[in-house]
Amino acid sequence: MRRFLTLLGLITSLSTFAQNQGGCGTAAPDSAHFAFLESLGLNNLAFNPENDTVIRVPMKAHFLLNSSNYCMPFSYLMTAVCELNRKYEPSGIFFYLIPEINYIPFQTGNNPLGGYSDGSRVMSQYNLDSVVNVYFSDLAPIGLCGYAFYPNSGPGSGARRGGIMMGTGCSGPSNTTFAHEMGHYLSLPHPFDRTASNPLHPTNAELVTRSANEPAPRRSRNCATAGDRFCDTPSDYIDDRWNCNVPQVVTVDLNGDTIRPDATLYMSYSNDVCANRFSPQQMMAMRATFNSGRSYLRRTTIPAIDSNFNRVSQISPAEGDTIPANFAYFQWNAVQGADRYILEVSRSPMFNLPLVDTILQDTTFLYNLNRMLPGVTYRWRVRPINWRYTCSGTDTIRTFRAGMPLGASILSPEDFGASVYPTVLSNNELLNVNLSEEGQVFYRILATDGKVVTSGNLNQGPQTVGLAGFRSGVYLIQLERNGSLTRQKFIVR
Ligand SMILES: [Zn+2]
Repeated sequence: MRRFLTLLGLITSLSTFAQNQGGCGTAAPDSAHFAFLESLGLNNLAFNPENDTVIRVPMKAHFLLNSSNYCMPFSYLMTAVCELNRKYEPSGIFFYLIPEINYIPFQTGNNPLGGYSDGSRVMSQYNLDSVVNVYFSDLAPIGLCGYAFYPNSGPGSGARRGGIMMGTGCSGPSNTTFAHEMGHYLSLPHPFDRTASNPLHPTNAELVTRSANEPAPRRSRNCATAGDRFCDTPSDYIDDRWNCNVPQVVTVDLNGDTIRPDATLYMSYSNDVCANRFSPQQMMAMRATFNSGRSYLRRTTIPAIDSNFNRVSQISPAEGDTIPANFAYFQWNAVQGADRYILEVSRSPMFNLPLVDTILQDTTFLYNLNRMLPGVTYRWRVRPINWRYTCSGTDTIRTFRAGMPLGASILSPEDFGASVYPTVLSNNELLNVNLSEEGQVFYRILATDGKVVTSGNLNQGPQTVGLAGFRSGVYLIQLERNGSLTRQKFIVR
């Protein structure tokens, strides 16, 4: 059985998971916390969310920047909060962001974190009062998806105690880590806590039975005083990631009953695709936490939730336009209700490795760095958001082509590192282009009227360009590389 580490800082080494997803690093709560859960008497209560008002919870997002000043896509945060709210809707709990995102500058041990002690140092320094403090950091080096502190534990004190540490690799769309860690933050243990370490332990391990009157020698239920203390979450013993569709090794309890964990619970360690719910008692415990350990999160004034606003319409650059690679001007229509816009520009349809990922109050953005490659097609999209409602989608993906940078210098072929030959050829001959320098070169062949006849990419070394179908005449081949270009005239006979 995998042992979990305490978050009290007594143990400094970190457990890592073999799974690429990583796991949760939240240890079982202390006995005082289990006593709190028992004191709620949940087995005698019925959950009726319709009688309960929605609890609105302020949340602060902290981005731990890495040495490249980056944390994760802004749209991940918005989607993560949106999905969190969908998962918590049956609980009657709603989270909203407090502007702005808090960017924590890079320093060794911040991002990626070196361990829990680094996380605690950061929380002690940056936690705000009376909000859920959520930190996003690269936790892959320590093999974790996230961890959180139970009420009345963790760094800091009073209304700024504890928080949630989220791994950026587990904060993308369709991940359940955020809901899971928020569950811990709002008092929920794992369903396997106190059972997984020894499923035959006479008092700690949760029995399978829910009968209060088992005939001797069978033991009667202990679900309210063992395991996670919830009688509507089955006994669970799997404290490592598991696939809901794969049968686990059979494990029995003290009655000899087979323990059958419930993969649908967010608080289990089943894979993300398996989980889709909190149990009624878990929901009641989380709500009760706002009257005890997290009472400071309840505010008397609650912001209005704007949930309806239109998508933006993009104005510039127009679809398919070619624009200077170092002077890309983006513009879109303002949308009523939007506090901010997330602008993303990338070569990839998935917007991986974005060239631009920025959050703006304005509806324009000028990109004037020189990192776009002339001749390459880029995609861009805009997502309007406000801090209280983050579920808006992005608008249509538009494309444009990066052209020659403004102010690009025209070099001689020698200075560019290119030789083009022969300069007089027939249309079934190949044009030779030899490039002596590294890096991709975009070429265009233009006719005398300026029309592009053909174009493409070339790499370092000797290569050829076919001229099949070319009419007789004078042509210009233009080579572009990172803001410099050269031209060479040639004749097709
Ligand atoms: Zn956990």
